[in-house]
Amino acid sequence: MRPIRTVLSPEEMPKKWYNILPDLPKPLPPPLNPATKEPISPTDLEAIFPKSLIAQEMSQDSYVDIPEEVLDAYLMVTRPSPLQRAIRLEEKLKTPAKIYFKREDLSPAGSHKTNTALAQVYYNLKEGVQKLTTETGAGQWGSALSLACNHFGLDCQVFMVRASYDQKPYRREVMRLFGSEVNPSPSTITEFGKKLLAEDKNHPGSLGIAISEALEACVKDGKAKYSLGSVLNHVMMHQTIIGQETMLQFEKLGEQPDHLVGCVGGGSNFAGFTFPFIGQKLKKNLDMDFVAVEPKSVPTLTGGKYEYDFGDTAEMTPLLMMYTLGHAFVPSPIHAGGLRYHGAAPTVSALVNEGIVRPVSYQQTEVFEAAATFARAEGIIPAPETNHAIKAAIDLALEAKKSNEEKVIAFNFSGHGLLDLAGYQQYLDGTLT
Ligand SMILES: *Cc1c(COP(=O)(O)O)cnc(C)c1O
Repeated sequence: MRPIRTVLSPEEMPKKWYNILPDLPKPLPPPLNPATKEPISPTDLEAIFPKSLIAQEMSQDSYVDIPEEVLDAYLMVTRPSPLQRAIRLEEKLKTPAKIYFKREDLSPAGSHKTNTALAQVYYNLKEGVQKLTTETGAGQWGSALSLACNHFGLDCQVFMVRASYDQKPYRREVMRLFGSEVNPSPSTITEFGKKLLAEDKNHPGSLGIAISEALEACVKDGKAKYSLGSVLNHVMMHQTIIGQETMLQFEKLGEQPDHLVGCVGGGSNFAGFTFPFIGQKLKKNLDMDFVAVEPKSVPTLTGGKYEYDFGDTAEMTPLLMMYTLGHAFVPSPIHAGGLRYHGAAPTVSALVNEGIVRPVSYQQTEVFEAAATFARAEGIIPAPETNHAIKAAIDLALEAKKSNEEKVIAFNFSGHGLLDLAGYQQYLDGTLT
C-alpha cells in the first residue's frame, strides 16, 4: 500500500482565518463611491451587509477568530479536507515532479464555497437578518449558500444566470431541496431584469447581471441582506482555511511546494489556497510560484485592464480597483460557469499587478482534455472550473520532466464535476469548442 492522503484531525483544524491585507506590499486601493469618487465609508454598505462582515472587509488584523458555531459547521462539510497525492497521474505523465491536490470537492455542496457561505450566514444570523439574496453562475455558490441558510435557518433567494439555469438544472434542485427560491436571471422580478428581457427575451444572463438583480431585490426588501460568493476581502479571508490546512499538511510531509496553482473566477478558491503561503513568501522571501488559471474566453487577469470598475452590470456596487474586462462584458457560455466573471478580487488583482501571482489562460477544449487524463488516472471527476488548474499543473509537471527536476506542484481541487456532465458529454462526443 502506498499512502496518498495527508489528513488532519478535527483538533488540528486552524481556528483563525488569515487576512492578507496588512501583509500586502502596498495598501489595497479602497473601494470608491461611484458618485463622489471618494472612498466609501462602512455605513455606505450597511444596507446590504451586516456590520460584522463590513468590519472584516476593512480589517487590518492579521488573524480573525473563527466562531465556534462555524467550526462545528466546517466539520459537517468534511473539514479538514485531505491533501492527496496524484501518484497515478505522475506515473502516467512519467514526470519526476510530485503532484498534490487539496480536496475541496468533498464538501456536500460540491465545492470550496461552503467555507465562506457558513461564515456569512452565521454573521447575518447573529445580527438578526432573516433572509439573504444572492446570485449564482453555475450554481455552486447558490448551492453552498442554500446549504448554509438551511443549516442556520435563514431564507434564501437566488438569481441564477440563465445560461447555467438551462445547462445545469440539477443544481437548481439542490438549492430548492435546501429551501431556497431560485430565479433564472435576467428575471421578471426586478426592474433591471425586466428591462433586459424586454430587449432580448432569450438573454443568456451573466454573473454581473445576476449580482445587480440580487442587490436590487435586497434593497427593495428592506429586511434582507445580500451575500457575495467571491471577490470581496472577507470572502477571500474565509477561504484561507484551505491554505492554512495545506500548510500544516506540507509540514507533516516535510515538504515545501514549488508551485501553487488555482483557477480564478472571482478569485476566492485561489486566494484561500495561496494567501497563507503568499503571506510567508512576503515575510520570508521564499521562492514559490503562484499560478492563477483562467479561461482564454474570459481573460480577466491576462487580458483585462487594472482599473476601477463596477462589480455588477447595472452599476450598483462601489467601484473596485481590479483587473476587469469591463462590467458590460458578456462571456461566452463555457461550461466553467464559475469562471465567467468580468472582474477579479482586488486582493488577487493587486498581487498580479505586483508580479507576485502569475496569471495564465487556457482554452476549453484543452482543459477538458487535461481533466479526462486526470479522471482516468485518479478516478475523480473534476468541476469544469477545476479543469483549468489541472491543465496548468499537468503542464508544470511536463516542464519538470523536460528539465528532469523533482518539483513539488500543488493545486486546489476546487470542486467535483458530477453535476457538470453536460460538458463532459460534449467533450466525449467531440462537439466541445
Ligand atoms: C465558484 C467556483 C470557482 C470560481 O470561483 P472563485 O471565487 O474564483 O474560486 C472555481 N471552482 C469551483 C468548483 C467553483 O464552484
